[in-house]
Amino acid sequence: MFKKNRVAILFIVLSLMSGLSLFAFDVVAQRRRPASNANRRANAVVPRYLLAEAESISGDRFRIATHTPAGVKIIAVSEPSRPMLDAIDKGFTDLFAAARRANFRRNLSHQNYTVFIARSDRAANNAIPAIAVGASQYAGTQYDRGGFIYAAGLVLDPNANAFIIAEHTRDFRPASDAVRFEGEHIVLYHNDPRRFEATADHSRGGGHPILK
Ligand SMILES: [Zn+2]
Repeated sequence: MFKKNRVAILFIVLSLMSGLSLFAFDVVAQRRRPASNANRRANAVVPRYLLAEAESISGDRFRIATHTPAGVKIIAVSEPSRPMLDAIDKGFTDLFAAARRANFRRNLSHQNYTVFIARSDRAANNAIPAIAVGASQYAGTQYDRGGFIYAAGLVLDPNANAFIIAEHTRDFRPASDAVRFEGEHIVLYHNDPRRFEATADHSRGGGHPILK
């Protein structure tokens, strides 16, 4: 997905968004509360504008700064579980393998990346965790839930190698997928700008994976 906004260009993985939710209006109301000031601890490890953007999109406060075993920088609402951290590492490992098959070389290290973990806006028991965001150019498409869409993840800033996903608590495979898919946009941005442009906006069609 591709959405111009004050601070950053956002991309949303939509291939995971096929499931419907019945919690649309609760979610939107919750997301409209004002973003808080940047948290000092998280602010010590990521630029303030990134933190502000993540808070603005999710409506969450990011109090936790940590990292995965492989060195991905993590900014989270609450302390992530070990399975969640491992799932994030696996998503990047899979992504980097696909990128190397495409002969890409840039930004193929876990330590290059920052992942924000927001609270999920999907409360249904079997729903894949996701973040509710304004429908923007997806208004009127199959993804439109009534002025907003559910995103598995969004790129916050491809230059900063930063994106946001929702917290997963049971099935962690979708967390790996969200990382692999959001990371794909960033890897393309740095390694194949033309293909990045061609694949960034899923409202024009196309999904993930882009790199096989
Ligand atoms: Zn995407």
